[in-house]
Amino acid sequence: MKKEEVFAVYKENILPTYSKVPLVFVKGKGSRLFDLDSREYLDFFPGWGVGNLGHCHPKVMQAVRDQVSKLIFIPNNYYHLAQAKLAAELVRVSFPGKVFFCNSGAEANEAAIKFSRKFGNGRYEVITFENSFHGRTLAALAATGQKKYQDGFAPMPEGFKTVKYNDLEAVKAAITDKTAAIMLELIQGEGGINVAEKDFVLALRKTCDEKKLLLIIDEVQTGIGRTGKMFCFQHYGITPDILTLAKALGGGLPIGVMIARKEISDTLGPGMHASTFGGGPVICRAALAVLQAIEKEKILNHVTQMGAYLFGRLEELKKTFTVIKDVRGIGLMAGVELNIPGKQIVENCLQKRLLINCTHERVLRLMPALNVSKGNVDKAVRIIKEEMKRCG
Ligand SMILES: *Cc1c(COP(=O)(O)O)cnc(C)c1O
Repeated sequence: MKKEEVFAVYKENILPTYSKVPLVFVKGKGSRLFDLDSREYLDFFPGWGVGNLGHCHPKVMQAVRDQVSKLIFIPNNYYHLAQAKLAAELVRVSFPGKVFFCNSGAEANEAAIKFSRKFGNGRYEVITFENSFHGRTLAALAATGQKKYQDGFAPMPEGFKTVKYNDLEAVKAAITDKTAAIMLELIQGEGGINVAEKDFVLALRKTCDEKKLLLIIDEVQTGIGRTGKMFCFQHYGITPDILTLAKALGGGLPIGVMIARKEISDTLGPGMHASTFGGGPVICRAALAVLQAIEKEKILNHVTQMGAYLFGRLEELKKTFTVIKDVRGIGLMAGVELNIPGKQIVENCLQKRLLINCTHERVLRLMPALNVSKGNVDKAVRIIKEEMKRCG
């Protein structure tokens, strides 16, 4: 098929729910992507945060190949080895708890919401935050504090209250005798790379303990090494009651995970929640390979060092160009807030074969593979700098 034919088939046969970039990719390796015409691109936003190890990590490919040749699927009423190993590994690297497996971030958050309602035993409200993003299923959407995603889909499921981020008084004012949980991202990815303040998070933890509320941390985007620790909550010195994960965990394959703290883990019993595909053998082998690669290849150290380097370079740009209002993030999750819309800059970078993203209209988002080289960071920064020069 030629490029134009692919576009035509999509147009005729696929619901137009995505605004699309006119590129057809056929191959990926590390931070590089190749299109139908064999042109090479530097991917600084691999898969919306899915590609933490870059494209087609050899260890992930090997694990998937091996598992596919043995057993592709077994339902959750039986046992299999890979799920046992992955669950134990997830608990080892997070906190003492128990795992529920599903297939996406939204599903992991749905599980967390259902869990809180069961736990609440009559208390059902979940407090969430402005500019948050928790997924597109109805409850996850109701939890999402951005009206633009909800428009046209009313009525939303009940039981969600959205308050200002980093505002403890607003949270306290929203708590009632119906509140069951507080749910947040520690860095709001789709909301513009907004970082939760340490005091705020510590106070939320304290408030949840005092009022017997569950603290749900959505690390669908920040988890699996993105910030230089396996999980972003580890920067804050707190433990969530419920942690949700997805994007990067499967090394490119779909997975969602909810981990609940051991003390509350008998809240859900047999038959109360389920997912047919959740935690299948192939995806569990892929996720195990991801976690092992992060450890073996000392990825977290690399993220801390390369993140410091990237932020240093971005801060230089901020000093030079007035179009840059702010630089935010942790590790290799970086947002560059501009005074102008970022769409054109993303398109110009694409022309120079650098793939980046713009979130919340004005925030350029860089989330390169965690094993990105210094040379590639320099290359990306050089291209962005050329664009900033143009804007003044
Ligand atoms: C992407 C994302 C989700 C939704 O994940 P899906 O796999 O697309 O359902 C939820 N929360 C956060 C923080 C995300 O970034």
